[in-house]
Amino acid sequence: MARDIDWLVIGGGSGGIASARRAAQHGASTVLVDPGPLGGTCVNRGCVPKKVMWHAAQLAEMLADARGYGFAVDSGGLDWAALVRKRRDFITRLNGIYDSNLSAHGVHWRQGHARFVDPQTVEVGGERLRAKRILIATGSRPSWPDIPGAEHGVDSDGFFDWEAQPDHVTVVGGGYIAVELAGVLRGLGSQVTLLVRGERLLRGFDHDLAAMLEETMRKDGIGLRLGTTVEAVEREGDTRVLRLGDGSQHRCDALLWATGRQPEVEGLGLDAAGLDLEQGRICVDEQQRTQQPHIYALGDVTGGIALTPVAIATGRRLADCLFADQPQPTIDPTLVPTVVFAHPPIGTVGLSEEAAIELYGEAQLRCYRSRFNALYFGVLEHKVPSLVKLICVGDEERVVGLHTMGVGSDELLQGFAVAMQCGATKADFDRTVAIHPTAAEELVTLR
Ligand code: FAD
Ligand code: NDP
Repeated sequence: MARDIDWLVIGGGSGGIASARRAAQHGASTVLVDPGPLGGTCVNRGCVPKKVMWHAAQLAEMLADARGYGFAVDSGGLDWAALVRKRRDFITRLNGIYDSNLSAHGVHWRQGHARFVDPQTVEVGGERLRAKRILIATGSRPSWPDIPGAEHGVDSDGFFDWEAQPDHVTVVGGGYIAVELAGVLRGLGSQVTLLVRGERLLRGFDHDLAAMLEETMRKDGIGLRLGTTVEAVEREGDTRVLRLGDGSQHRCDALLWATGRQPEVEGLGLDAAGLDLEQGRICVDEQQRTQQPHIYALGDVTGGIALTPVAIATGRRLADCLFADQPQPTIDPTLVPTVVFAHPPIGTVGLSEEAAIELYGEAQLRCYRSRFNALYFGVLEHKVPSLVKLICVGDEERVVGLHTMGVGSDELLQGFAVAMQCGATKADFDRTVAIHPTAAEELVTLR
């Protein structure tokens, strides 16, 4: 039976849940459709389970370091199955919390896949829901290379399904997921080969970060091969045999595709909604409006910056605007901070040196950098270098790029992102009293 809904949200991930809850708080009758479990990519097969695995890999490294500090400890090996069980239990708890938070905010959850039957109506499990306004927040899914035998690999969703730790894993890709999962697997003791089609890691990030990541990965024993393509994959028993672009063969126990993601629009019935795709994504304007004035879209499905906090902030902003008449400023895409959970982590906000040169010209820029060993490694034979870098523009030296790599980079970045949001200059950094002894102090003592 047709229902009169103010805000019908398709997708119970980062952006959809944030928007649904905020709209309901403003008094809008809100229904959220998702097959479940709630929380989307981030909670179920992204940020959260990834960070649990990253912590496990960090612990493995610290257990090894503990001997250097005089402790008579031995990691005793990892019980992979126990780690996976604990990770899954944690996520199940989170799914329950999302469910109860939705109810507490008066959002009605319809469990199932949504499909448009006309621009105003969506069908879920045989029920038709009619709404005044509709939000599409269906996220993205992994992209696979179109080569023979690709099915012998898995993607990041498949990684989280592994019940046992593979001995030798080959990861294909050079972006966030490839770098993070290669680091996790190596940290937990697998032999790892990373095949990257380009000549560097993390395209789009500052070149100094990419170069130092390459150096630390090699030092950690990751078999990094740049400029390498995979043409085909075959299976011989449990072994994957990869035919590479240079004609050679490469063998491994498990193959992980980390070759990007694409907007999730399958089965949505966009034709019935009167919506077209542009290069596979749903196009929106600054107010998140699609071609249909009452249908909005946000998050990964729009092909923008694919980060959870961006989807959440956009979802809340949209609900504030539509249901409380509180227009909020749009997010400045050049000031979105991001961390790559590599080993050690990389934090970056603002422009890379390359992007800054392109935007302002070399003569307008001044770069400051420092490479050092954090005090933690002082008593250890095992050293992991750190890097901090500032990119400043104009006579006033406004900071337009800040890049860090090293232990603690993930946690130190947020505060510096606030400073850059406020338009901080190098002189503001210099005026700030350092906290000693920390890695962060390097950023306010650069010469
Ligand atoms: P999603 O969170 O993907 O939610 C989409 C929801 O829509 C899903 O629940 C899905 O079930 C539902 N859906 C799809 N189709 C339909 C339909 N037809 N009907 C109803 N429901 C539907 N970002 C970070 O900021 N930090 C990180 O550390 C980080 N790590 C990541 C690690 C991995 C391995 C991956 C894959 C991603 C990671 N991300 C990270 C990115 C982040 O997860 C996404 O940018 C974010 O989840 C996007 O939110 P969203 O709301 O657009 O979509
Ligand atoms: P990315 O876009 O970061 O990286 C994709 C990688 O795959 C690139 O190195 C790309 O190479 C390579 N690639 C693409 N197609 C092929 C192919 N056919 N063969 C070989 N290599 C290929 O995507 P991810 O999937 O790693 O991550 C998706 C998004 O999710 C990220 O952009 C990020 O926004 C988000 N994310 C955020 C995280 C965080 O915040 N810590 C963690 C994980 C994901 P090339 O550069 O040459 O195009």
